Amino acid sequence: MAHDNGQVVTIGCNLCRTSHHYLPADLRTLLGDIDIDTIPRRSTCEACGRRDYLRIRVWSPVLPEERAGLVVRRLQWVVTIRRPIWREEGWE
Ligand SMILES: [Zn+2]
Repeated sequence: MAHDNGQVVTIGCNLCRTSHHYLPADLRTLLGDIDIDTIPRRSTCEACGRRDYLRIRVWSPVLPEERAGLVVRRLQWVVTIRRPIWREEGWE
């Protein structure tokens, strides 16, 4: 597979020791044209919900052992959730 310039963005949680690999293009589709380094401040770990343990790495899998078994999480669908924001208001 040839994607972008072959770069992979790995987002991992130091607390749960989980990590997922993404393509920069998918992250741009989801988050807009942002600095990849700011992603940990914008997201939380799926498993523990914390953000202070997220670490991010942008790298290029070039070695055969790096490519073998590498599973990239592709953006399939973005669902927009309708969430009401209420405010209290006086009658007058
Ligand atoms: Zn976590």
